Amino acid sequence: MFSKTTTIPTCTSRLHESTARSRWETTPLYILALVRRTLPAIAAGMVLVLFSSLSLPTKAQPAPLAGQSAKPLDLDEIAEGIHVYAGAHDEDATPGNLGGFSNAALVIGKRSIAVIDSGGSRAFGLRLRASARALSDLPIRYVINTHVHPDHIFGNGAFDDAQSVVVGHHKLPRALLARASFYLENFGRRIGARFEGTRAIPPTMTVDRSMRIDLGERELILDAWSTAHTDNDLTVFDPATGTLFAGDLLFVDRLPIIDGSLKGWLQVLTELRSIPARRVVPGHGPAFAPWPNALDAQERYFRALLRDTRAALDAGHRIERAIESVASEERGRWIHFDIGHPRNITAAFTELEWE
Ligand SMILES: [Zn+2]
Repeated sequence: MFSKTTTIPTCTSRLHESTARSRWETTPLYILALVRRTLPAIAAGMVLVLFSSLSLPTKAQPAPLAGQSAKPLDLDEIAEGIHVYAGAHDEDATPGNLGGFSNAALVIGKRSIAVIDSGGSRAFGLRLRASARALSDLPIRYVINTHVHPDHIFGNGAFDDAQSVVVGHHKLPRALLARASFYLENFGRRIGARFEGTRAIPPTMTVDRSMRIDLGERELILDAWSTAHTDNDLTVFDPATGTLFAGDLLFVDRLPIIDGSLKGWLQVLTELRSIPARRVVPGHGPAFAPWPNALDAQERYFRALLRDTRAALDAGHRIERAIESVASEERGRWIHFDIGHPRNITAAFTELEWE
């Protein structure tokens, strides 16, 4: 799985030539301290060995292109050549949704296709692949992962052939290495037999800061962000239609989950606002939403969380008491609030207590 880049020379050359920052980007103001435990650096060779073994035990791996017969998903064409699968954002991974409860998209150029997030299982990825085949005969050159969470990456195996390269944030391989075993076990238990054959496939093309990829008369701009939702968030912008794919840097209706940094995410939201988009595809929520207004509710929640967590820390409150009081006015405004909000308060406490 790691030899694929050599079959797509244009990908590897672009990797080195496209280091210029896109015009809305600003110099990072600071490097946020990671509040989560970090892994020690691991030699690249060891990464390869470990990744090659990250799979659920299966009787036999299905053939790589077995998805030709998978049933296509229902996609919305939200702009010319942009087809979005709007996941059921009030669900989590189930046998019925195959782990595909977040949004996924296809972008079709004149010469090739990009997949943006591949869903939560190989079976879901095969359905997404079938959707692409129903729309176009062009090769699927890029499978772009917006971040490490399993509902966005576990469909990669459906595109595991010589035509496609997996693209992600430069910190995605390390994050995947740390978490893949847990994610595979967790999603395998939730999805059951239809999860069989799913593997964790890391990116072989990584984005340090910004990169452009050409689908043929259609260029996409990929930006790697500092720690926010996770430490490996990547966005994709299609200037031709003004469409931004925010990944989980944007949740609409469903409560955003902090797996990176609250303050970092607020900073990234400020920087995101300068992207000259017309519409945004959120990681969770409807197929698209107006830009930049779609950011407002999430930012309001984060500012309340920041304000009230600081106040609770200043008052010497324990975290158990804070869970009752912090940003309580947000209850009723979000799907999964009672599941995600205590977790976010814990993350905010951990991050802010040493300020
Ligand atoms: Zn996520």
